[in-house]
Amino acid sequence: MPDIKHNIASLKQEIETLATALGRRDPITLLAVTKTHPVELIEAALAAGIEHIAENKVQEAMRKLPMIGTSYKGFHFIGHLQTNKINQLLALKPYLIHSIDSVYVAEKLHLALGRTNRTQDVLIQVNTTREEQKSGVTFENARDSIWQIAAFSTLRIKGLMTIGKLHPNPEISRPYFKMLKELFDEFQNEEIPGMEMQHLSMGMSHDWNIAIEEGSNMVRIGSAIFGERYYGDDI
Ligand SMILES: *Cc1c(COP(=O)(O)O)cnc(C)c1O
Repeated sequence: MPDIKHNIASLKQEIETLATALGRRDPITLLAVTKTHPVELIEAALAAGIEHIAENKVQEAMRKLPMIGTSYKGFHFIGHLQTNKINQLLALKPYLIHSIDSVYVAEKLHLALGRTNRTQDVLIQVNTTREEQKSGVTFENARDSIWQIAAFSTLRIKGLMTIGKLHPNPEISRPYFKMLKELFDEFQNEEIPGMEMQHLSMGMSHDWNIAIEEGSNMVRIGSAIFGERYYGDDI
């Protein structure tokens, strides 16, 4: 079993050291990505001070979340949302959905929320690296998509999300993180009803430090906390 307590303590320490070096004063949220890992390991992470957990499959979240005995601040959904799973996801009361990757998905989510008089905090996922296997609005369409999604009254756009390249050298991802930060800043200065850019979700186990250097305030960490997952990355 991985030393989850140690991994979380050292990650928190490293994040704090980097933030201090960068002169950052805003809080940086550490999300524990719990996909594929059993509930006992999630409990261990919560006991070690994790407050936010993230899953990328609705089915898996439905199975695991009800079994978690410890309380926590937020369940985050970070995977591609299939429209036939929207109601099941909403039943889990996600704190934040990071992966709104098309106007189509946003509209379906809006319609489902409208039926129950709810609002939902969301991030828009941008495919900055232009990799075909990744979802997300294209960088070129991002502005248009953000404006269109902001018009859905049940959705509260709280920020942007991207996935860097899965490359051993994390420097490769720096320009993509930079692009997203610029877009984030641009929209932070806009006054659009239903939109308040707060979260810039970028950075994973291998590239979180580059992401934070480029302005991320929400990092999504799986393997650096829980060890390797037992399947190839399907993100
Ligand atoms: C799996 C996953 C992560 C975490 O990946 P690690 O490399 O294990 O830290 C982060 N973000 C998304 C969207 C993921 O699917």
